[in-house]
Amino acid sequence: MARRKYLFVSALFLLMVMGFLATSLSSYIIARNSLSENVAGQTLPLTSDNIYSEIQRDLIRPVLISSLMANDTFVRDWTISGEEDNSRIISYLNEIQQQYGTISAFFVSEKTRQYYHPEGILRTVSPSDPQDSWYFRVSDMRDPYEINVDTDTADTSRLNIFINYRVFDYNRNYIGATGVGLSVNAVTDLINTYQERYNRSIYFVDRQGNVTLTGPSTDQPPQRLQNQPGLSEFATQILSTPSTSLSFESEDNETVYVNARLVPEFDWYLIVEQHGMQGQSELDSALVSNLGISAAIMLLVLIIAHFTLRAYQQKLEIMATTDRLTSTGNRHYLEASFEEKIRSLKTNPRALSMLIIDIDYFKRVNDTHGHHAGDLVLQSVANCIRSQTRSTDSLCRWGGEEFALLLDHCDLDDAIKRANDIREAVKSQSVAFGKTPINMTLSVGVTGYHKGETLEGLISRADTALYQAKENGRDQVVPLP
Ligand code: GH3
Ligand code: MG
Ligand code: MG
Repeated sequence: MARRKYLFVSALFLLMVMGFLATSLSSYIIARNSLSENVAGQTLPLTSDNIYSEIQRDLIRPVLISSLMANDTFVRDWTISGEEDNSRIISYLNEIQQQYGTISAFFVSEKTRQYYHPEGILRTVSPSDPQDSWYFRVSDMRDPYEINVDTDTADTSRLNIFINYRVFDYNRNYIGATGVGLSVNAVTDLINTYQERYNRSIYFVDRQGNVTLTGPSTDQPPQRLQNQPGLSEFATQILSTPSTSLSFESEDNETVYVNARLVPEFDWYLIVEQHGMQGQSELDSALVSNLGISAAIMLLVLIIAHFTLRAYQQKLEIMATTDRLTSTGNRHYLEASFEEKIRSLKTNPRALSMLIIDIDYFKRVNDTHGHHAGDLVLQSVANCIRSQTRSTDSLCRWGGEEFALLLDHCDLDDAIKRANDIREAVKSQSVAFGKTPINMTLSVGVTGYHKGETLEGLISRADTALYQAKENGRDQVVPLP
């Protein structure tokens, strides 16, 4: 019985553990995956798109201004007519710079190679000076303009760009390059915002993987993509495709999500990097509290199951071993009790005795007062006998109005004495039934336990003694050693 209960509780526990674990973990994994997909598929590409469109917005105006300058009749006329009064072009450039708020405005003449600037003539460009290489590239290029990013190697958080527009005379002959220079503050501000608000790392790398622009507040030193821990193995992939989304595990076991896209205007790659996920810690604590709640529920269920089973088991045991009418033991109980005592005799030898107690003329009670009165008498006699027993005795209702009492630590003499006590006690009490008190007497057969005999043998000898008591006139105790 106890083994079965243990098995049942274990199975219940196992089922609950599996159930709770399966539901908690599967919902955790689903939530985690969708969060992860969201970061990789939406959040990072969106950041990247926002920055890219900001760059494009920042570039539209200067390109327009430069186009305006390149098509300005004043610039062309002044150049064609021999670049005579320098102050005129200088004040023109000054005007552009003031009006549009650019960091510079310039014109370089193909004929004189003079570099005009709002403050005067800056220099004369020369094909042998690497600083001027941009101009010779522009003179030879097919496109009407280029966007030249001025890489400030000393400070990668500053982005200066120049729009270099080709200028033609009225016969489509190339006569120089003009345009404006500006700093792309909006882009760096945006990078900063994303970095601070979402803890994302945002930077640009050129085609070779060199970091060219970072957010203003970033503390990572400029370096190559190929040297970034974790990212290095993806460098070739990133630098050979227009856009890449990937993720990898960092050294501290964090998932790093990376989105890279080519910004054709700069010929740079925009890299958006995020360590871990927003909401990951909330997810983790939800899992922990889920498991905690599950454990608490399991504990509660197990405790309830344990006590319910125990109460049920106790009730069953009582029902299986108790006589319903008199609440004494039944034959089953006496058999078990006898077996137990016989077993313990081996280590603890002692005397056992058996009493068979029968109510005298009980049939008359039923006949005179009815069956219900008989039941009451039975209960009352049983209670009276029970009041004379000790905790080591085993009392059972052996038959209709017959009780068997197994006495522990009791030899024949003691048993006779105790049988007489019981007989006296029952004789001296009367059962009130209506107005008529009913008095009963008992006949008792007494015998001692013989080593090795069965319960049947013991009872049958006590029965013989009882028969003798009846024969001798009832209301007496007859021993039979
Ligand atoms: P004796 O002195 O020889 O023992 O006479 P007796 O009448 O007590 O014995 P007998 O064996 O002739 O009758 C026993 C009666 O007990 C018969 C039966 O109807 C009655 N009896 C047995 N069980 C119950 C019970 O549970 N309730 C009631 N009311 N009567 C019962
Ligand atoms: Mg009787
Ligand atoms: Mg009888």
